Formats: sequence, structure tokens, C-alpha cells
Amino acid sequence: MSRPGRHEAQGSGEPEDGGSSRGSQHRHDRHDRHSSDVERGNDGSKERKVFGTGLAKGLAVTLRTMTRRAVTEHYPEAQPELPPRTRGVIGLFEENCTVCMLCARECPDWCIYIDSHKETVPPAAPGGRERSRNVLDRFAIDFALCMYCGICIEVCPFDALFWSPEFEYAETDIHELTHERDKLRAWMWTVPEPPALDEAAEDAKELATARRTADKLAAQERAEASGGRGAQGGDGPGEGAS
Ligand code: SF4
Ligand code: SF4
Repeated sequence: MSRPGRHEAQGSGEPEDGGSSRGSQHRHDRHDRHSSDVERGNDGSKERKVFGTGLAKGLAVTLRTMTRRAVTEHYPEAQPELPPRTRGVIGLFEENCTVCMLCARECPDWCIYIDSHKETVPPAAPGGRERSRNVLDRFAIDFALCMYCGICIEVCPFDALFWSPEFEYAETDIHELTHERDKLRAWMWTVPEPPALDEAAEDAKELATARRTADKLAAQERAEASGGRGAQGGDGPGEGAS
């Protein structure tokens, strides 16, 4: 009895051993992948490829797009319409800045430069304690280093930094891309208004507090005015009696 040869095992589809079976399967798969008339569908099943399908798909895309209007932007003659949340440049509302340094610490590029000094503030009421506060001396952002991640704006706890959609501040000298405090302050004029609140939304906490304070003051004034009139009215008979 002769043992089946290598070609006999392959021809009958019977594996000669486990290794050669896997090798044969691998060769078949590879052949399938490179075969010109078979391709795999999304579910991995084999599908027959019809000649010219790719060409037809390409032509369909061409026909679809050739009837649409061109979307060429005529910049700089016409300004582009940018979305309101465009990250163009950062504006500083320095009145809100408490020099907490959070933005400079969190900036991944270390491109925010802040200098400050401490100042002593006299007590608000006689007998009170003196207080100290930080005074901003320098606030600058180097836009040559900035990667527009927005982390500084996110972390600022006092709403002192804002995105502006302005983007036309290219310079021929890289040093000019370090915008100092005044320039950052000027960008604030280009920051778009925040979107209106939902009609059903509650008022912001600050607004509600300001309204309560205003109502209290108005009530106090009314009480004082009516008290004054009452006192005048009470004096009248006395005056008449004397
Ligand atoms: S946007 Fe990012 S990289 Fe630019 S200054 Fe702010 S934190 Fe730094
Ligand atoms: S995080 Fe805001 S408040 Fe603090 S230093 Fe930066 S800009 Fe000023």
C-alpha cells in the first residue's frame, strides 16, 4: 500500500495534517482577496463583482455633483460666513480677571504670560481688616504657539476669556503674534453675543439676585416714603391744636 502523496492530499481536499490544511486555507483566502471577480460584502460574505460597477458609481457621483452650485468662497473680496463658535482669536475681558493664573497653568503650550503684583485695599468699614488683591500688570498670549485648544477659556472661573471669530491677524514678524493686554482687550469688541436663553429657562443666578436686591430697595424706599407721609399726617392735628 502506498501512502498518498502531497498533491493527492490537496487534490482530494483531505488535509495531510493540520498545518498543511491551514496553509492551504490561507492560500485560498489570499487568492480570493486578490481575485478580480470576487469581493467581500460588509458582512464578510463573498459577492460577485460585476464588471464596470466602480466606473458606474464614479460617474453617478460626477453627475450628482456637476448639477450643484459651486461653493467657492470669494475671500478676501467677500468675508466668509463663519459659525458663531469659530475659534479665531482669544479676547480678554480684564475687568473679570482676578489673576488666579489658572489659564496660564493649564495651557498645554505655556503661551499665556501673566505678571501681577499685590495691592493692599483699605477696610470697607471702620475697624475692619485691610485686604490684599492681585493687580494685573501684563497679560499676553503668543498666538504663534497657541494651538487653539480652548482649555484656557474652559478653565477660567471668572469668564474673562472668550473666543472671537476674527482670524485676520497674520503678521510677517512672528514676534507680532504675541498679543498684549490691550490688543486682547480690543478683541472683546468682536466677540459675538451669546445665544439667547431658552424661553422656558430660569433666569441666570446673577440676574435673579440683582432683581431681588432691586425689589428689596424699592420696597424700602416705598416704606420710608409712606412712613414720612404718616409722620407728616400725624403732626398735622398737633400743629392745628397748638
Ligand atoms: S487656546 Fe489652548 S494653547 Fe491657546 S492659549 Fe488657550 S490653552 Fe493655550
Ligand atoms: S483663569 Fe481667568 S481669571 Fe484666572 S488669570 Fe486666567 S483669565 Fe484671569
